Amino acid sequence: MSLNEFDLINTYFKRPAKHSSIIKSIGDDCALLTVPEGYQLAVSMDTLVSGRHFPEEALPGEIAQRAFCTCLSDLASMGAEPRWFTLGLTLPASDKGWLAAFSEGLFELADEYDCELVGGDTTQGPLTISIQVHGVVPAGAALTRNAATVGDKVYVTGCVGDGAAALALLLKNIAVDTESTQYLRQRFYRPEPQIKAAELLRPYANAAIDISDGLVADLQHIAKASSVDIEIDTTKIPISPASLLISDQLSDTSALDFALVGGDDYQLAFTVPKKYEDDIQALIAQDVLKATAIGDIVKSKTAQPEVRCFAGDQLLDLSAKKGYQHFAS
Ligand code: ADP
Ligand code: MG
Repeated sequence: MSLNEFDLINTYFKRPAKHSSIIKSIGDDCALLTVPEGYQLAVSMDTLVSGRHFPEEALPGEIAQRAFCTCLSDLASMGAEPRWFTLGLTLPASDKGWLAAFSEGLFELADEYDCELVGGDTTQGPLTISIQVHGVVPAGAALTRNAATVGDKVYVTGCVGDGAAALALLLKNIAVDTESTQYLRQRFYRPEPQIKAAELLRPYANAAIDISDGLVADLQHIAKASSVDIEIDTTKIPISPASLLISDQLSDTSALDFALVGGDDYQLAFTVPKKYEDDIQALIAQDVLKATAIGDIVKSKTAQPEVRCFAGDQLLDLSAKKGYQHFAS
């Protein structure tokens, strides 16, 4: 490499620590961090491999932001607030222009979400980005997958299906208007981690998950962990106009398919007990929380908890639908 590892880290990744919780940051063998009293540490890691999780031609800033966003989304789904992150960077070469754009994209998000880079590792090899985020959540208040209860309403934040619609746009050479293209590109490279929504709904929700594998697959995780069935009214699922435009150009896929089995949305699905329905509805009415009720948690009919999707009264058969698609499949 033309830059040694030490110079690379100092030039592109070392910044003065801002938060008083950071006792030691980049430069020592470990970061030393203080978790505030009464809080628990929430930790999650994501690895993105070039050509598999993003196209090889993706811009460095886009790669940084996608990697970071998907990781922050895991914190959101637990109701945790971002604090610190570490970065594992495997690079084919140390290209200064690439590194500058990558770190710019990364720190833009770090500032936006108040999450500071406190360490990492740098190696040479095929382009791979690993990010580990560390967040804090009041002790005992984390939103887990196993807490959905019969009688809960199921909600989703935002629109569902944009991740898969964006992937179709990127992979299949579909032409739609500039505004829709930009909207979907943004959804793909910079999905919005639902950190603020999570903080708002945390006092009221029982269970939550972020939609990364597809709404049905992710709800299935809640169903299994909570030993309940989930019934969804698919006519209630919020779908964006851009997603509809893309599906209009595909003979074999509808916007509902994008939403149900697509994935990569990084919206939250969460469940709310009856006693808090009014609180959630009030947040939605005040426009501080963008969320839609799409179904119910019901008693499990069999030993195998399942997700059932309806269009009105009609039960849909999703068994033939394809699931999550990587770039190299
Ligand atoms: P060691 O050999 O002790 O593991 P390294 O030489 O790997 O240390 O890293 C030196 C310092 O730089 C450590 O504090 C490490 O956390 C940090 N660091 C290394 N790579 C990165 C990176 N890509 N981003 C942020 N910090 C990094
Ligand atoms: Mg090291």
